[in-house]
Amino acid sequence: MSDTIFAKIVRREIPADIVYEDDDVLGFRDLNPQAPVHVLFIPKRAIATLDDATPADAELLGKLLLAAAAYARAQGLAENGYRTVINTNTHGGQTVFHIHVHLLAGRQMTWPPG
Ligand code: C5P
Repeated sequence: MSDTIFAKIVRREIPADIVYEDDDVLGFRDLNPQAPVHVLFIPKRAIATLDDATPADAELLGKLLLAAAAYARAQGLAENGYRTVINTNTHGGQTVFHIHVHLLAGRQMTWPPG
C-alpha cells in the first residue's frame, strides 16, 4: 500500500481541520471546498480505491458512510439534504488514492455532475 497525504493526516504528520473522529474514521474539511460544507471522510486503515475494496472491507465501508450521515445529521444538514461522492480512478476524478467520501452540503446540487 503506497502512502498518501491522507495517511499522513491520519498519523497527524500534516495538519488538517478535523471535524469528526471515531475509532475507524476521520473527517476533515476539504482544502479546496466545492460547497459551503465540504468534508472528506476517510477510513484510518487505508484502502486505495473502491475498486480495491473486498468483502473483508464491508464493515469499514459501512462505517465510513454512517460516519458521514451521522455528521450531516448532527450538523443539521440532513433536512435540506447533501451529496456524498466517491471518485474512483482516472475517469472518476480520483486524485488521492486513499478511499474517501466527499460530503457536500449547503447549496443546491445539480445533476449530472461534471
Ligand atoms: O476525489 P478526489 O481524490 O479528487 O478528492 C481529493 C480531495 O482531497 C480534493 O477535493 C482535494 O481538494 C482534497 N485535498 C485536501 N487536502 C489535501 C489534499 C487534497 O483536502 N492535503
